[in-house]
Amino acid sequence: MNNKEIFDVLIVGAGPSGSNTAISYKNLNPDLKVGIMDKAVFPRDKSCGDAIGPGVINALKRFNNEHILDDEPEVISTSLFGPDNIGIQNYIPKVKNKDDSVVYVIPRYELDNRIFNIAKDLDVTSLEDTRYINYENIEDEKVLKVEIETSSKEKKFIFTKLLVGADGANSRVRKSLNLKQNSDLHKAIAIRAYINSPNYLEIFKERTLMFEINVSALKGYAWAFPSKDDLINIGIGMPLNLFKKDDMDINKMLDSFITTLESKGVVVNNLRMEKSYMLPFASSRPKLSHDKIALVGDAGSMINPMSGEGIFYGMEAGYLLAKETFSSFNSENENELNQNIKKYEKKLNQRFGKHFLSCTLARFILQSPFMTKRLLKIASVDKNTINFVVELLFDEARLTFKETFLLTFKFILPFKTLKFFSKSPTFSL
Ligand SMILES: Cc1cc2nc3c(=O)[nH]c(=O)nc-3n(C[C@H](O)[C@H](O)[C@H](O)COP(=O)(O)OP(=O)(O)OC[C@H]3O[C@@H](n4cnc5c(N)ncnc54)[C@H](O)[C@@H]3O)c2cc1C
Repeated sequence: MNNKEIFDVLIVGAGPSGSNTAISYKNLNPDLKVGIMDKAVFPRDKSCGDAIGPGVINALKRFNNEHILDDEPEVISTSLFGPDNIGIQNYIPKVKNKDDSVVYVIPRYELDNRIFNIAKDLDVTSLEDTRYINYENIEDEKVLKVEIETSSKEKKFIFTKLLVGADGANSRVRKSLNLKQNSDLHKAIAIRAYINSPNYLEIFKERTLMFEINVSALKGYAWAFPSKDDLINIGIGMPLNLFKKDDMDINKMLDSFITTLESKGVVVNNLRMEKSYMLPFASSRPKLSHDKIALVGDAGSMINPMSGEGIFYGMEAGYLLAKETFSSFNSENENELNQNIKKYEKKLNQRFGKHFLSCTLARFILQSPFMTKRLLKIASVDKNTINFVVELLFDEARLTFKETFLLTFKFILPFKTLKFFSKSPTFSL
C-alpha cells in the first residue's frame, strides 16, 4: 500500500450504531485500527423519542459503560390510550432477555455524544465534519479506497479493510451499494418536539411513557415521554404509505395531540424544536453483508415496526458485527473477513428475524382502531396480554404458535367471560 494509512475498520456515522460498533471492536481487540467519521460536529441533535430501554442498558453494561446513565431519572411504567379514551397503565414487567426493567429518556443531543465519547476514549480515530462520498474496490491490494469530503470541501481518500455503513435512514453507503431505500409501506414518518410541563408527573401519577394509539395519529401513535426535570419529548409517527395516501399534515396531528394532552390537564409550555424524519422498518431489510462492507442500524433498516425503537437494534448489530469479524483482519485466509461479515448477517437474522416478523404483524393489527380498542380492553383485565405487548415493545418477544392461539382465543371470547376468568392487574386511566 506504499506507506498509506490503512484502517482495519472505517465506520461512517457516529450515532449509537456506529459508536457502539467502534466500542465493540476496540474492546474485543484494542490493537485494531478503527476510524469513525460523521458529517456533523458533536454534540448534534437527532429527531427521536429519546427513549432507551433494557436492551440499550444491557448493551452499555456489556463493556461497563452504563455509568453514562448515572443521574438520569428512571421511567417505570407505560400508559396506553386508544380510541374512546380507553387507557391502561402498567409497570414495565421484568423482560425475559434483559436485567433491567426501566426506560430512560435522554435527549439524543446528549446521549449520542456520551456514547461517541466512550469510543473516542478507546483510541478510535474520529473525523467530524467529514462526509462519506463513495468507495472503490482496489482488488490488488485487498482494501477499499474511500472518498471523503472535509468541512473545507476538500476531497480526500482513506483506505480500509472493512467499511461499515452506520449512516442512518438516508445512508449514502447503502446508496453506493445500489440498494434501494425501503418502500413507503416499510417506512414511517415521525415528528418530534420538546415541551416543558410542570405537572406531567402529577397528572399521570408517576414517570410514565404515554402512548396514544390510533387517535391524534390515525393508524399510528402519538407519544409523550418524560425526560429530566419538566422536559417532555412529544411526537407523532405513522406509516408513510398511509400518510401519503390520505394527504395528511403531520404538524396538524401534533397540534391535535397537544390539545389532547391539555384536555387531560397537562400544562404544555414552550413548544420547540419540531423536527420530522423517516424510520426505515425492519420488516424490509436490505442485504447487510457485502464484499468488505456491512450495514448496521437505520442504514440497514433495523427499526422495530411496532414501537419505532431503533437505537437498541443498531447498537446490538454493531456488537454482533464486531464479534463475528474482530479476529479476521490479519488472517492468512483472504476470504475469512467476507465469510464472517456474512455470519454477522446470519446471526442478526437468527436473533431478531422472528421478533421483527411478530412486531410487523402487531403493527398491521394495531392499524385498525377496532383491534386497538379490543386489545386495550383485553389488556386491561389480562396481565399476560399487556406483558406480551410490553415485551414486543421493550424486549425480543416473538409470536409462537401457542401465543397466537391464546391471543386469538382472547380476541374472540366475549369480554365479560374473559373478565370473569382474569385477575385485573393493570389500572384504567
Ligand atoms: C421521530 C423519531 C422518533 C424515534 N424514537 C425512538 C425512540 O424513542 N427510541 C429508539 O430506540 N428509537 C427511536 N427512533 C429511531 C432511532 O432514532 C434510530 O433508529 C436511531 O437513531 C438509529 O441510530 P443510527 O446510529 O443507526 O443512525 P443515526 O442516529 O441516524 O446516526 C447516523 C449518523 O450518520 C451521520 N451521517 C449520515 N450521512 C453521512 C455521511 N454521508 N457521511 C458521514 N456521516 C453521515 C449522521 O450525521 C448521523 O450522526 C425514532 C426515530 C424518529 C425519526
